[in-house]
Amino acid sequence: MTSGSILAAASSLYMVLVALLLGSFINLAADRIPRGESIVRPPSFCRGCRRRLNAVDLMPVAGYLVRRGRCASCGGSIGASALIVESAAGLAMVVPLAALGPVAGGLLGASLVVLLGAVVVSLALVRARGGSPAKSDLDRG
Ligand SMILES: [Zn+2]
Repeated sequence: MTSGSILAAASSLYMVLVALLLGSFINLAADRIPRGESIVRPPSFCRGCRRRLNAVDLMPVAGYLVRRGRCASCGGSIGASALIVESAAGLAMVVPLAALGPVAGGLLGASLVVLLGAVVVSLALVRARGGSPAKSDLDRG
């Protein structure tokens, strides 16, 4: 391996980790914004038992798998959206990086992660208002 390819691999790995963490944040935002809660404070906690989440809980994708989708304290469901959104954010970075390399792939991947965040939070807001846009169209008729 040349130093250039090592640098490319390290920067790609870093971008995937950032994408996974952004996926975790997107999931938090989609949970809190429709409730009118802050996305900064308090730190992440279980909605069942109010336990503050630790480093294991907060690992994107891996935390969900280690906990088997359940809170370590109360056994309440974490919700599959955490796994789905974090995985989607990771894939949104991995696929462009693999196809286009660290520069173009990183730019496209970052754009896709931002787009994912906008879509997921928007869908959460629509759902919180009680249904899909199509349903409210029907209601109007
Ligand atoms: Zn709990």
